[in-house]
Amino acid sequence: MSIRRLPEGLVNRIAAGEVVERPFAVVKELVENALDAGARRIEVIFHGGGRTLVEVSDDGCGIPREELPLAVERHATSKLSGDDLTHIEHLGFRGEALASIAAVSRLSIVSRPAGADSAWELRVEAGRLEPPRPAARAPGTTVQVRDLFFATPARLKFLRSEQAENRAAAQVVRRLALAHPQVSFLFATAHRRVIDLPSQPLPARMAAILGEAFAEGSFAVEEEHEGYRLSGRASLPTLSHGQPSLQFLFVNGRPVLDRQLTGALRAAYRDVLAPARHPLVALFLECPPQLVDVNVHPAKSEVRFRDPAIVRSLIVGALKRGLDAAGHRAAGLLSDGLERALCGPVAVRSAPSFMPQAAGAGGAAFAAGLGEEPAPLLDAPSARPAEAIAEADLRRPLGAALAQFHETYIIAQTAEGIVIVDQHAAHERLVYERLKRQRQAGGLSVQPLLVPEVVELPPDHADALAGAADALRELGLTVEPFGEGAVVVREVPAALAGADISALVRDVAADLAEHEMPLSLSERLDHVLATMACHHSVRAGRRLTQEEMNALLREMEATPRSAQCNHGRPTWVRLTLAQIEKLFDRR
Ligand code: ADP
Ligand code: MG
Repeated sequence: MSIRRLPEGLVNRIAAGEVVERPFAVVKELVENALDAGARRIEVIFHGGGRTLVEVSDDGCGIPREELPLAVERHATSKLSGDDLTHIEHLGFRGEALASIAAVSRLSIVSRPAGADSAWELRVEAGRLEPPRPAARAPGTTVQVRDLFFATPARLKFLRSEQAENRAAAQVVRRLALAHPQVSFLFATAHRRVIDLPSQPLPARMAAILGEAFAEGSFAVEEEHEGYRLSGRASLPTLSHGQPSLQFLFVNGRPVLDRQLTGALRAAYRDVLAPARHPLVALFLECPPQLVDVNVHPAKSEVRFRDPAIVRSLIVGALKRGLDAAGHRAAGLLSDGLERALCGPVAVRSAPSFMPQAAGAGGAAFAAGLGEEPAPLLDAPSARPAEAIAEADLRRPLGAALAQFHETYIIAQTAEGIVIVDQHAAHERLVYERLKRQRQAGGLSVQPLLVPEVVELPPDHADALAGAADALRELGLTVEPFGEGAVVVREVPAALAGADISALVRDVAADLAEHEMPLSLSERLDHVLATMACHHSVRAGRRLTQEEMNALLREMEATPRSAQCNHGRPTWVRLTLAQIEKLFDRR
């Protein structure tokens, strides 16, 4: 066969495969066009998971009648003035969305530019244009896409479920809505209004999209470095999700789903969140257009930075600093949650109902409860009263240790109430921070094992360990390959003497083997340290003297990030006297 030029219709159908891979992509392209047109209100109607109808109306600048045929032509755009691809200021610029959509659907554009006295409609069916005809509408544009992919039946077969498309399309609208709080948005399926947002200030838009808890459960970010500026909010470790769907990242106002950026997020929270948890963020990265290339992919959701390392360190650094500064607030917030749980309407309503029930049908049981032996409130044998309270300690943030109970928790009195500390979680954090400090200060002291310990592992885990042997030696952990699927441990960090070595090594190996993202060496080492710390910490169940308890509290106060354990669980909670009084209906 000889080489021939493909007809334009076919070229457009091929291109459509990339630009509009799924129905939600049509929503993305049309809403972006509406935003580029300066719309103040955008309405999206999405029927049949986008297969039967996608309609987007806006009150933007409109398209003049004579330009309507150009709008659906490939590589025709009003958004690039010169030939400079380094100064992209609109969401669109490739001039291929409408052409692609028109090639695979029945398209209608009704538009009226501001100032024009009537509207015109252009219809295109599978790429074939009809002459524009007069129509009626207020200034702005309505684009209707019917029977998407009817012209490419193969694509139709690969569409996901209607619900999956609804979710994806709504998510696209949320992302764009977060970047444009001043614009009002509606997104409706045939059955309900899924999104209905008035024009509002950014904080209100954030609350509408990330949830009411986000405002309180997050900290503000505002930093600048070498031309890149990061702003927005990110959640405290106490507010996280099992899915990353509440992470919103924008580069120059453009929503992006970029592996480098999500990798930076993960690195920032690695110390304070378990790997399966995801922080909530709304972060806006701004930079001069020449520092970022958005023309990496037709969907423009990935970007390439001139200086990826600077961007990464800006994000990781800003978030880590914010997390440190907000550390103690996290536990306080949690206490408010506790208060709501204890004193909230549910508890209050159920309390009075207990009395009549006890005096009536359950009277016998109630009476029995009042018998000779009062039911113990705390587990008496393990509650250990303090000998004396140091006055000075009472004024410290975590107060003076009163007692340990259930050999797991420490209770301390503060100026305003009480604090309950989970001793294992707290100690794990302290050991971790101590190990990190030692490493930064030039190395951990090492303890050789008198009898080297052989640890058996799945072969890929053993390989991962062997591959990291040099780095691990720097942490004081000396391991060598020992045949197939085993290693021999010769030295451990002195701080971990007495820990269960084989459990420790197995966990470290699993960590190293499972990390999907390439980490910097230092992040990797921190991670290993966190795993080690977990193995060494005071397990629940160890009795502590009052001095040990107070020492733990003082060290927590002096240690950054000590309000959460390495997995993001809180290490302490606070109950103020006011909250306790409420519990007893004294207020
Ligand atoms: P691009 O957005 O990359 O320019 P599109 O194919 O999406 O390419 O749109 C082509 C052109 O049609 C745009 O450059 C713009 O001039 C015009 N256009 C599309 N949608 C609208 C709209 N909602 N309001 C005003 N003009 C629009
Ligand atoms: Mg466009």
